[in-house]
Amino acid sequence: MSYYKIANLEQYFKHYHKSVREPRKFWGKIAEENFTWYQMWEKVVEFNMAEADIKWFTGAKVNIVKNCIDRHLARRGNKTAIIFEPNNPEEEAQHITYTQLHERVCKMANVLREQGVQKGDRVCIYLPMIPELAVAVLACARIGAIHSVVFAGFSASAVATRINDCDCKMVITSDGGFRGNKTIDLKGIIDEALTHCPGVHKVLVAKRTNEQVNMVYGRDMWLQPLLDEASDNNVAEIMDAEDPLFILYTSGSTGKPKGMLHTTAGYMVYTAYTFKNVFNYEENDVYWCTADIGWITGHSYILYGPLLNGATTVIFEGVPSYPDFSRFWEVIEKHQVTQFYTAPTAIRSLAKESIDYVQGFPLKSLKVIGSVGEPINEEAWNWYNDHVGGKRCPVVDTWWQTETGGIMISPVPFVTPTKPTYATLPLPGIQPVLMDEKRNEIEENQVVGSLCIKFPWPSIARTIWGDHQRYKETYFSTFPGKYFTGDGALRDEVGYYRITGRVDDVIIVSGHNLGTAPIEDAINEHQAVAESAIVGFPHDIKGNALYGYIILKEHGETRNQENLRGEINKLISDQIGPIAKLDKIQFVSGLPKTRSGKIMRRILRKIAEGDYSNFGDTTTLLNPEIVEEIKAGKIE
Ligand code: ATP
Ligand code: MG
Repeated sequence: MSYYKIANLEQYFKHYHKSVREPRKFWGKIAEENFTWYQMWEKVVEFNMAEADIKWFTGAKVNIVKNCIDRHLARRGNKTAIIFEPNNPEEEAQHITYTQLHERVCKMANVLREQGVQKGDRVCIYLPMIPELAVAVLACARIGAIHSVVFAGFSASAVATRINDCDCKMVITSDGGFRGNKTIDLKGIIDEALTHCPGVHKVLVAKRTNEQVNMVYGRDMWLQPLLDEASDNNVAEIMDAEDPLFILYTSGSTGKPKGMLHTTAGYMVYTAYTFKNVFNYEENDVYWCTADIGWITGHSYILYGPLLNGATTVIFEGVPSYPDFSRFWEVIEKHQVTQFYTAPTAIRSLAKESIDYVQGFPLKSLKVIGSVGEPINEEAWNWYNDHVGGKRCPVVDTWWQTETGGIMISPVPFVTPTKPTYATLPLPGIQPVLMDEKRNEIEENQVVGSLCIKFPWPSIARTIWGDHQRYKETYFSTFPGKYFTGDGALRDEVGYYRITGRVDDVIIVSGHNLGTAPIEDAINEHQAVAESAIVGFPHDIKGNALYGYIILKEHGETRNQENLRGEINKLISDQIGPIAKLDKIQFVSGLPKTRSGKIMRRILRKIAEGDYSNFGDTTTLLNPEIVEEIKAGKIE
């Protein structure tokens, strides 16, 4: 019997129980049957949770890129590996076959070696969503260099911090990038960043915008001429299972970003397995994830997971609003996309616009639609299900983190019955537990607690680069023996999980424990509300009270604000209880978000508290201007 594919609910439970009772057999079999190894492992897993010391497939030798590309060549050489959809719809899409991808990655790998990059070296990749980004990532992995992809929207100082944090010796960038109607001067940003990065000696520059850029003699080189000269014959590095694969910084929603280190074999096995099951992947599918490769979602589910399965994956350079709000739907029709994976922030921003943008598109090719990154509120879930999935496509609400490497809690489409706002059940191999304030495990259902995982899974991050102590403290010390996610969750009567928000954001009002997600969910049900964020602020009597920041849809903006406040509080009262009513409601035109599109509640909390002194690390903030607007309109 194979465990690689979950066919029905009965099988899900069977596989799940096997994965808990005999994790070594379960993962050992999946690893053995679905990948190419130079040498098999001695032990499937060894761990010491107290020390945050976890190893999978120790003793095995493997190269993840051989598994992503080379082994598919015989059967899938002419199959499209990557569809590149440019920012400008007038520009032709590119189809890159597995054979072509192999050639490009081998050449790039040779260029990196010729430029002195060796196994274990860190390479910073700061590129827009163009094929060169995928090629650069895979070339690093092929030669055992550790890639650190930095989202090409970060400022010079944010890039510099990330380059220095992990001592990158090389940067791969481009002259510039296109995003909607903007052109971004990436090379200029790198030049500025590198004035603070003495360790970087080489910069390889791809061409995208053909804008004039400054090339520093002896440091900067155009990539294309080097590739033209390079051989397409490349011998991949033989990697140990636990050799580092990449470093990736978290989104920075809650504080200073952490450089999570992921290693080779476990990450490979888990991302391949979860891609196959969470997206119900089949051979002729065309899969599209709209995330940027600069986030973990892009690493695991644009590149590694799909390519490990020999899939066709779309790389989209643009944004959902350019040239207009139907761009996503046009791309789905154009490439006959079967699986579509995006974030609640994108769904909410599109749902806010006229329904005409989506309604003209039948979207019949779609089979599964997914969401990741934040809790998806019920209204957005329903809109997605109705208008994008046509009520035919299971919505997979996938909960996971940069630290987890792969999807942890999610419906398996056509297997797990879905439920709006619920990530539903843990995938095989994942053992979630809810912990109470006294740090005891909560056994019963229909309760809220701190979400922990009590057994290691193959793709868990192994450390924070250069700071194992911080890794131990952040994830393994609050609940000894367990991995602490930092998120709160509710477990319903059948064992489904609903993520209620960050534990740090939980607000205790008159002794009641309130998560942010369920309250925001209730607020967003109001037909005039587009998006909302709530935080707590100190209150003399209740201990804490609730402050809501609310963005209205266009038709709501003309309404009487006092009436709206009343209606919103009534909704909350009806759905959650009077205890959760908002003391203050401020209507805003936007919310502070990370560059990956998540609401930064910590800034809103500071404003609600009236403390404008220290907003913490704001380098990952997308829209600093909104902070001033919100401060100016604060309700006293
Ligand atoms: P930082 O750790 O730097 O504060 P971050 O937690 O936003 O940033 P990521 O690793 O990108 O960085 O995000 C993981 C977090 O996103 C999860 O811990 C959770 O809070 C939230 N999240 C992701 N997917 C979901 C989901 N499907 N439902 C609810 N929340 C989700
Ligand atoms: Mg986090």
